[in-house]
Amino acid sequence: MSRIYEITERVRSYAPRMDIERINRAYVFAAHAHAGQFRSSGEPYIVHPLAVADILASIRMDEASIVAAILHDTVEDTDVTLEDIESRFGAEVARLVDGVTKVGQIRFHSSEHKQAENFRKMLLATARDVRVLIIKLADRLHNMRTLSFLPEAKRRRIAEETLQIYSPLAHRLGMHWIKQEMEDLAFAHTEPEAYQRLVEKMADRIEELGRTRKHLEGIIQEALKRNGMEARVQGRMKHLYSIHQKMQRKHVNFDEIYDLVAFRVIVADIPSCYKALGLVHGLYRPVPGRFKDYIALPKPNGYQSLHTAVIGPENFRIEVQIRTEAMHSYAEDGVAAHWLYKSDDADARDRESFKWLKHLTELIQQSEDPSEFLEDVRLDLFVQEVYVFSRDGDIFALPRGATPLDFAYAVHTDVGNHCIGVRINGEMADFQQRLRNGDQIEVMVSPDQTPSRQWLQYVRTPRARQAIRAWFRRQEREVSRRIGRKFLREALGREHASPELCRHFGCADEQALLEKLGRGDIPVHALLEAASDRGMRRFKMRGMERTLMHAAECCHPIPGDPVLGQFVTGRGMVLHHRKCPEVRGDDKDWIEVHWLPEPGKTFLTGIRVLTRNERGMLARVSQCIAEGRSSIEDLQLHQRAGAMTELLFLVSVEDRRQLAELLRALKRVPGVVRVERRNRVGLKGMARGIGETLRGIFGARKHSEEES
Ligand code: MN
Repeated sequence: MSRIYEITERVRSYAPRMDIERINRAYVFAAHAHAGQFRSSGEPYIVHPLAVADILASIRMDEASIVAAILHDTVEDTDVTLEDIESRFGAEVARLVDGVTKVGQIRFHSSEHKQAENFRKMLLATARDVRVLIIKLADRLHNMRTLSFLPEAKRRRIAEETLQIYSPLAHRLGMHWIKQEMEDLAFAHTEPEAYQRLVEKMADRIEELGRTRKHLEGIIQEALKRNGMEARVQGRMKHLYSIHQKMQRKHVNFDEIYDLVAFRVIVADIPSCYKALGLVHGLYRPVPGRFKDYIALPKPNGYQSLHTAVIGPENFRIEVQIRTEAMHSYAEDGVAAHWLYKSDDADARDRESFKWLKHLTELIQQSEDPSEFLEDVRLDLFVQEVYVFSRDGDIFALPRGATPLDFAYAVHTDVGNHCIGVRINGEMADFQQRLRNGDQIEVMVSPDQTPSRQWLQYVRTPRARQAIRAWFRRQEREVSRRIGRKFLREALGREHASPELCRHFGCADEQALLEKLGRGDIPVHALLEAASDRGMRRFKMRGMERTLMHAAECCHPIPGDPVLGQFVTGRGMVLHHRKCPEVRGDDKDWIEVHWLPEPGKTFLTGIRVLTRNERGMLARVSQCIAEGRSSIEDLQLHQRAGAMTELLFLVSVEDRRQLAELLRALKRVPGVVRVERRNRVGLKGMARGIGETLRGIFGARKHSEEES
């Protein structure tokens, strides 16, 4: 049982100038807050935070971490608020306590492997400051040490969670001894029988192994000394859980595990590492293929060492790790090694942290798999994902900047498509809100809801984007089919297309035919032709042209113009110019039509020609029109100010190109001042010869002055 005095003494030993008084104050404050609370072991609650602080002192953590460890359960379990802590112990400590509280509130639900992985990542991201995780690991370690006081079911759950979440996390952070101790403690509760058997087997061998260890330590130490090298040699037993795992993995029993003892050789610098390796290989025969140079190529969590295995006396296989003092400290305490208390000078500590990041950046560049490295060590600063929960506690990893709709689509496409709102952590949120780590999201759906184009601006994930686009494509297909059905009904007077008709247009089925009809890929006249060729029922509207398409008389569109079509019962489809006032306001029934010219088939359109009042002017203009293979179907003539005449013609042309040629030709006619197209000339096409028309003009008819 740790007492505050032991902790402050321990701290004083590595940081003589640390503010011991603040640690004492934290103790008094926490002891007061937890007064009357007890652990399952029956001890006063304050024993637990003290033990956590003691673990942190043993790895020489900084003052803020020690103080935060003593206070770590006050906000969660007592009346103390974060503000209290900040005002008494400062913002840094408050941030750490807040982090530990938040991480503690995240509950791990699923036993699925992938979920465990996401959960670990989320802890990394939520913690923000790696010291939060180190405190959390120390917290979990002490809880594991006192696990036997809990009821069996709870014990097993916590032990399993430790194996799935916390020991891998300790491994990632390079905190080797914490990982091992957690694993052995958890092993005892998850597989009590296997654990017990292994303990007994180890007990049988322990003496012999101890002798071997001492013997070898001496031999290696001696050899190094003879070669003038300062070195520490440590033999250690492999921890139980790793033996157990090895037995499982390789399907062997205990007697077949040869490397129960491993040795560490700790030397002064990197060149000495390689020199010591040579000496060890000189003493004992190395096992081929077992040498690994993690100094030149560190592990993703930053671990560095030389690893080798040799055949020792009595054919014992011995693992040997060779490293410098700094590497050793990192191998044992991992990330925590970077918080080693080195000086009271805050700047110097910042420089240390910075050096650590710089070191990581260098490692990333050397690492074989940078993405894995990023996930492993760089924490919030580098994590590109956010981790959020569903209402059921499932964890979803989404890219940074993801919004509630991304989440909804990640749950299920239908959930996304019918999403009408979201609650984040119990509160209504809008679709633009960015998700944060640990958010719990509840999606509300309604069968009537459908995606909107605007959603595309909110989502970040390809999955959501594709789902929304697919929905609109499907909608467009359905609209096309509906229109196609209408074409079929209006043109052929029937509800369904025969298989022959479908085949004729190369369509697999009726749906495909309807789609093509609706999109205008198959023109209506082609449909009619095909239908009549095949001896099908003739369409019911009599006295119509070959094609069912008509150009509207209000705006006189011609092939090549942007046009929209509308069905008029009894007439077929009437095409209007897109700019026609008839089109505006009501776009429900309008159909996009791509209107191509048809040789020999002409359409009417209006042109306006402004001329000087000259004798023979009208004749010259009329002749020019006739020479351009067009015919005049109607015209009006207005006297204008400044001795000008305005001529409005209704002419027939095949398409826009022919019209453009005509307008160019008219411009060259002497006396013509201006020529332009007029979609609305107010003429109807009198279908009389030009002579008759001209007589009408000279009969001084009154004309409305309709413009545009
Ligand atoms: Mn705790």
